[in-house]
Amino acid sequence: MSQYLCPSRQAMKPYVPGEQPQDRRYIKLNTNESPFPPSEGVLEAVSREADKLQLYSDPESGALTRALASFYYEKPENILVTNGSDEAIVYTFLAYADRSRGFATPDATYGFYRTVAEFCGTALTEIALTEDFQVDVPAFCQYRDNIILPNPGAPTGVFLPLSQIEKLLESHPDRIVAVDEAYVDFGAESALKLLDAHENLLIIRTYSKSRSMAGARLGFFLGSAAVIRDLRTVKNSLNPYNVSRLDQAAGLAALEKPEYYRRNCRIIIENREWTASQLKKRGITVLPSAANFLFLRPGFMPGGDFYLAMKEKGILIRHWNEKRIQDWCRVTIGSREEMEMFLKALDELREEKGAGTL
Ligand SMILES: *Cc1c(COP(=O)(O)O)cnc(C)c1O
Repeated sequence: MSQYLCPSRQAMKPYVPGEQPQDRRYIKLNTNESPFPPSEGVLEAVSREADKLQLYSDPESGALTRALASFYYEKPENILVTNGSDEAIVYTFLAYADRSRGFATPDATYGFYRTVAEFCGTALTEIALTEDFQVDVPAFCQYRDNIILPNPGAPTGVFLPLSQIEKLLESHPDRIVAVDEAYVDFGAESALKLLDAHENLLIIRTYSKSRSMAGARLGFFLGSAAVIRDLRTVKNSLNPYNVSRLDQAAGLAALEKPEYYRRNCRIIIENREWTASQLKKRGITVLPSAANFLFLRPGFMPGGDFYLAMKEKGILIRHWNEKRIQDWCRVTIGSREEMEMFLKALDELREEKGAGTL
């Protein structure tokens, strides 16, 4: 820390992303990336656009906004494109939280919410998930401030049905309910259909997971026109050209191949269900997942040790040193071959630990 850093910033605690090590080749099952490349046409669209990089991008991401609107049967005024959904999360806090207003989120949630809340000097109230990692809807309904939650849950993968989201919206008519749908395409139902009836609903989406573009940095909001206007004002106050030409072109090209992405999601879901059944056969606890990952409790060894032992074997998964979830690990669903390698490494470990063989 330099002597120049403002006292009010000295306590900053940056987000710690899943590791992206360069020291050797790993089977990467730790950051929920897609095993599939972007669709045909994305590369060509990007290289065409690269010729115009001397020109600023469209600050409104107009063409992409209109294409997303027709894709989701909404209007352009219901959409705002962002630089990854992480930027959307930052704007959500900047628009709707300050010293007097905060957000509530589950106690096992996406860690970036905490980072942003602390940076903004706003309260993030953690409401405990139930014993089986479900969102405690009655407890959220009693809480009188804004809500932000990932659905399907992160890192749990557990899906909260729309009837429950509706209860949150109805109990908070004067506050925002932000639903982070980063994983919704892997078998969950979007809250989009609740948008017409609920001005306070804000949906956050990303291209990073189901659309194979984590490296591009592209996300977007779906919300009521009034709420999107708020967020556009925040965006134009901080980062008017927030989305590059390359990303806008890539995002547009990807929308032209919906069948490709649907097929990829179907394959991931199949691999997920297969992997879950294999894990259960081995006596390992797995939460029901509607996402492109599984949240599991190895049981035969502590979560942190399991993560380290798998890393030794060249397989990266994710573990958090947080009390609530320290026995658990999150494993991204990759290709069938990758999941077979994961299970092979798991079986070796179980044998080493005397946890039996299949
Ligand atoms: C991956 C993830 C994001 C971040 O997505 P980007 O668009 O890559 O910034 C947001 N929310 C949740 C819950 C995620 O898991």
